[in-house]
Amino acid sequence: MAKSLSKTNFLTCLDCSKNAWLKIHKPDIYKKYPLSSFELNIINTGNQIDELARGLFPNGTLVESRDDTELTERLMVNKTTVIYQPVFSTEKLITASDIFVWNSITNLYDLYEVKSSTSSEEGGGRKTEDYLIDIAFQKNILNDLGIEIGTLNLIRLNKEYVRIGDINLKELFIIENVTDQVNEKLGEIRQKMEGAYELLVSDKEPSGHCDCILKGWNSHCTTSEYSNHDLPEYPVHAIARINKKKLTELVDSNIFSIHDVPTDFELSDNQRRQVDTAQSDKEYIDSSGISEFLETMKYPLAFLDYETYPSAIPKYSGHRPYQQIPFQFSLHVINSHGDELTHYDFIYTEQGCPDEFVFLIWITSVLSGVALEECVHPTVINTIEVGRETADDNMANLLFVLLFQRTDRNDPFFWKHAVMLHNFVKHNLVNVCAVMPTGGSCADIPLCQEET
Ligand code: SF4
Repeated sequence: MAKSLSKTNFLTCLDCSKNAWLKIHKPDIYKKYPLSSFELNIINTGNQIDELARGLFPNGTLVESRDDTELTERLMVNKTTVIYQPVFSTEKLITASDIFVWNSITNLYDLYEVKSSTSSEEGGGRKTEDYLIDIAFQKNILNDLGIEIGTLNLIRLNKEYVRIGDINLKELFIIENVTDQVNEKLGEIRQKMEGAYELLVSDKEPSGHCDCILKGWNSHCTTSEYSNHDLPEYPVHAIARINKKKLTELVDSNIFSIHDVPTDFELSDNQRRQVDTAQSDKEYIDSSGISEFLETMKYPLAFLDYETYPSAIPKYSGHRPYQQIPFQFSLHVINSHGDELTHYDFIYTEQGCPDEFVFLIWITSVLSGVALEECVHPTVINTIEVGRETADDNMANLLFVLLFQRTDRNDPFFWKHAVMLHNFVKHNLVNVCAVMPTGGSCADIPLCQEET
C-alpha cells in the first residue's frame, strides 16, 4: 500500500475493513465492476457542490494536486485569506480539507468541510455522525503537524431553500460550527485511525468469514463475490427482505442455497413463494389474485409512466435542492374492452424548465376517465406530440381550466393538483382569475388565500 492512509480509505475501512484492504491490495478485484452512472452522478454532484460552495469564500487559491503539501505550506505561511483543497500529510496519514479561511480576529485558519447532502439530519443521524468523523480525521492530522485551527465547520445544502432567480449561495448553504462535537471525538477517532493504518498497511489479507455472511444481498459490497466465492449461485441471502435472525439460523445450520431451505422453515408469504418457486423450478402465476385485481378496474383505463431526475443544485426558479424534475411521460389509454391502446408520450429535450409538464402528466392522469381527444384542447395534444412549440402560458391556463372542470373538489387528488397550480400562480405562470371557470375565484384555492 502507499505508505499513507488517506481519509477516503479510512472511511471505507470504518465501513468494512476487508473491503478497504482489498481496495488497497487487490484493486483489480475492488474495481472489477465499473461505477454505475448513478454512482458517477453522485461523485459529479459532490464535485459541483464543492465548487459552488467555494463561492461563499471567493477569490481563494486552489491547491490542485492532491499531494501538494509544499504549496499548502507556502500559502499558509503567507496567510493567504482563502485556500481551497489544502493538503496535509504525516508519515502515515494524508488528508485534504475543502476550504481554509484565515480569521484575522483569532489569527487562525477556520476549516470548512462541504457535503452534498441536505441538512435534514440536523438532529443527528448517521450522516452527521459520519461527517464529524471525517472532520476529526483531518483535525487529528493537523494536531500531529502542530497546526492550530480555529473553528471546524460543516457546509450542507439547505433543504428549505427555494431558488428565485439567481442562486443565493448564503441561503442555499447552511454552515454549522461543529467544533465541539468534533473535539469530543478526537480520541476515539485517533484510535480507529491507528487501527486502520496497521490493518491496511499489512500485506496479510484479513482472514475469516466476510461479516456480510449474515446480511441480505443488498448489503453486500462489490467484492462480496470474491470474499464469498463458496456461496451458491442462488444463496439464501437473496431471499427478499430476509432479516438477520432468519439468515443467522440458516447460516448456522449450514444452509446456504435457497434450494436447501426446509419446507417448515418460517418465512413470510412472499419469501415462502420465492423459495417454493426456486425449489420447484416452475413459474408461479397468481391467477385468482390477478383476476381479483383486474375486476377492480373500470374503463376507460389509463397507464401512465413518467420519469424525473433530481438536481442537487436547484436549476430553476421555484425549485429546492434535490427537487425531482419531471421530463418524460408515456400514457396508454384503452377506452373500452377490446379497444386498441392509444399512446401519448412526451419527452422534454429543450434547455429550459420542463416543470410545466408536471401538469400535463397529472392532468392526463386526472383525465384518465375520459378519452383525451374529447377533453383536451387540440393545442395540448399538439404540444404532447411536437413539444413546446405552442405558447406555454396558454397551455398552463388551459390545463388549469381542465382541472377545475373535470375533477371533484372533494377529492384529495384535486387539492394535490391545486397546490401544483398554486406554484405556477406564485411564479406568474398562470393568471388564475382570468382562467377560472364561471363562478370560480382565487378564493377556491386556500394557498392563494394565504398569500393575498
Ligand atoms: S461483502 Fe460485506 S463484509 Fe464482505 S467485504 Fe463486502 S462489505 Fe465487507
